[in-house]
Formats: sequence, C-alpha cells, structure tokens
Amino acid sequence: MKRIAILGATGSIGTQALEVAREHPDFVKIEVLTAASNAELLVKQALEFLPKTVVISDESKYQWVKKSLSAKAIQVLAGNNALCEVVKDASIDMVLTALVGFAGLEPTVSAIQAGKDIALANKETLVVAGEHIMSLASQYGVHILPVDSEHSAIFQCLTGESPESVEKIYLTASGGPFRGKGRDFLAHITKREALKHPNWVMGQKITIDSASLMNKGLEVIEAKWLFNLSIEQIDVIVHPQSIIHSLTQFKDGSLKAQLGLPDMKLPIQYALLYPDRPANSFQRFDFMDYPQLSFEKPDLETFANLRLAYQAVQQGGNMPCILNAANEVAVAAFLNDEIGFLEMSAIIEESMQLIPFILSPSLADYVSIDQEARKIARDLVTKKKKVYQIEK
Ligand code: NAD
Ligand code: MG
Repeated sequence: MKRIAILGATGSIGTQALEVAREHPDFVKIEVLTAASNAELLVKQALEFLPKTVVISDESKYQWVKKSLSAKAIQVLAGNNALCEVVKDASIDMVLTALVGFAGLEPTVSAIQAGKDIALANKETLVVAGEHIMSLASQYGVHILPVDSEHSAIFQCLTGESPESVEKIYLTASGGPFRGKGRDFLAHITKREALKHPNWVMGQKITIDSASLMNKGLEVIEAKWLFNLSIEQIDVIVHPQSIIHSLTQFKDGSLKAQLGLPDMKLPIQYALLYPDRPANSFQRFDFMDYPQLSFEKPDLETFANLRLAYQAVQQGGNMPCILNAANEVAVAAFLNDEIGFLEMSAIIEESMQLIPFILSPSLADYVSIDQEARKIARDLVTKKKKVYQIEK
C-alpha cells in the first residue's frame, strides 16, 4: 500500500491521479489532498477518499471547508505554508507534485528533506533548481519518479539499461494547435484558439505552454536533470499523433520507444506504483486507429520559446529560473488578454537580458530571483499592454 499526498488535487493531473487511486484501492491510500482555491471539489474529494489532512491555500475558504468536513475525522489546514508542513507527515510515503509553477519548489524540497519519494508532475521545480533538487534527492535517498509523459517514457526505456549506454534521447512534441503556422498567423490568435490542444486536455498554463512550445523547452531542461544528460544529448522531434511518448537511443544505435494513447493516467500510475504494473481498465491502443505515425522538425524561428529554453539551460545559473518566472507572468498576461501570443516570447527574452547573470545561485536564492524576474516581466507586460491595446 502506497500512502500518497497529492498537491494540487483539484487540477488536471490531480483529478486523474484520483482516478488511478479509484482503480487501485488495494495499492493506493490517499492521505493528503490540497487545492489552491477550488474548495467545493476539494471537499467532494475528501468525502470520497477520507484523507488524514486537506489543505486549502485560499485562507478565506478555510471555515467553509472545515464546516463541510466537520462530520469526518479530517484535519483541515489553510495557507501556502501548510504545504511545506503537510508533506512531512509520517502518514505518507510519496508526494505527487501536481500544482503549477514555481509554487511547487518549496514543498518539493520540504518533502525530499523529510525522506518522501516524489512523483513529479511539477516540471517547473526541475527547470528552476534541477541540480539542487537531484543532489538533495540523492543525499536523502529518495526517488524522483517522472509523471510527465515524455519523461515517463524515457524512464521506462531506461529500465534494465545502464545510464552509460545512452547516446541521446528524443523528446516528442505534438506541435500544439499552431503546428505549421508562421509568425504572422500567431500574431493574431486568440486565447480560445490557444487553449484548444489537439491531443491532450490539461490545465490552462501547460496548454498555453504547449501551444508556444515552451512546454517542450521546459521538458528539455527537466530531462537534463532527471536523466543526468548534456543538452547536446537531448533532441526534440515533432510527432503530431502523440502516440510515441519519447525515445532513447543507445550507443549501439538501437532505439527504444514507449507508446500508448495520450492519457496521463498511465504515466501517473507508473510513477505512483513503480516498479509494479498492476492491470487496469484504461482504454487500450488500437493500431488501426493510427495507420500512420509522422515526424517533423520543430520550427525554432516561429516558436522562439523553445530556442529561449535551450539558451537558458546552456547559460545555466539563474537563467532557467528567470525563463520560468517570466514565462509564468507572460502566460498569465496572455490569458488575461493583456498581451498577444508573440509578446510572450518577447517578454521572456527581454527579462533574460535585463537581469544580471548569476552562475551558482543557492537553493535559497531562487525565491528572490523568481520575485525579481516576475517584477521585471510584469513591468514589460505593462509596457507592451499599451501597444497591444492600441493595435487591437
Ligand atoms: P491545473 O491548473 O489543472 O491544476 C493545478 C492544481 O494545483 C490545482 O489543484 C490548483 O488548485 C493547484 N494550484 C495551482 N497553483 C497553486 C499554488 N500557487 N499553490 C498551491 N496550489 C496551487 O494544472 P495541471 O495541468 O494539472 O498541471 C500541474 C502540473 O503538472 C504542472 O506543473 C504541469 O506542467 C504538469 N503536467 C501536467 C500535465 C497535464 O496533462 N495536465 C502533463 C504533464 C505535466
Ligand atoms: Mg509532457
């Protein structure tokens, strides 16, 4: 029995993780559920799974959650600091980090220091502080199990292989809803169009990241740290059907791929129950539904974010943290109709130029770097917003 804390239980990954838990009541026990503000769904989940503790970050909803769960022996906590505390609880073995953005970093550090294995969906944590997180994990002897489908694929391909035998990996990318389009087209797209991903249903932030290819850039950085690779060993290949989830190429030239339907429940199950593969009722792949699998080169001219992510990780130091923070601000501004699609890349690139380079930030430094980058990016949004509104 694995006893699990889900940070971000009400989101896309969180709710699918609970479907996995429903499928495997004999293997999975949910002990902690947390949400930013969706109190109604959090309470509904708590009444079904009866965890030891729930956390609602939005403190104004604490009383309502507490009252709604008063008939059950469930501890209710509120506020963001509670996340770092609750992950240390002796009742849990593993923490699934299914919350979005930089907010995942501190609870992940806290969980590792408490000796908990991590099922890592929150890729931003490794983008910002991958080197620190991986060395902390080895220091505390905890496993970091990837939930991201590409990284789960690579992880599965590496099972039974020695790390030295890897020549390179290929991360597959669907290309998103604007694959094949040029910058003129992207200049005029709406958020409704950007939120329509061809293959996956996900939270808003990662859906915009997928449309801009930033998601693949973040995944390149995530893969570098998870699998201890150089950037030259990581290639991106566009594969519009999202059936091959990624590939590993070995030094003898052999390629191993992991395939499946685009369904996050599979990589979630693999991470939660690793190394077991218990049977489930999830839909099976049918070759006749996919008579053709195709591949293309990513377009780094049009989708500047992927190029910027490569640039940030090559520079190293505080650059990936700046890239991530500026991207979070830019995506929020795009979703808020303040800026257009292409301005997102411009804001990230300018933020990376404006903030002085630091080669070796400490783990503690990342909080202030993140805050500084957000402030600079916000100022850039304010400037670009005026131009955008006039042009609109
Ligand atoms: P989502 O927006 O659907 O859900 C996010 C969850 O986290 C919600 O429960 C929300 O209440 C909580 N949350 C959000 N911000 C928070 C904060 N600041 N503090 C505390 N809680 C907060 O997001 P998602 O699509 O499930 O993605 C979660 C993470 O998993 C992201 O890092 C994403 O990149 C990664 N991921 C998602 C998918 C997917 O298919 N959705 C695939 C691979 C990786
Ligand atoms: Mg992915």
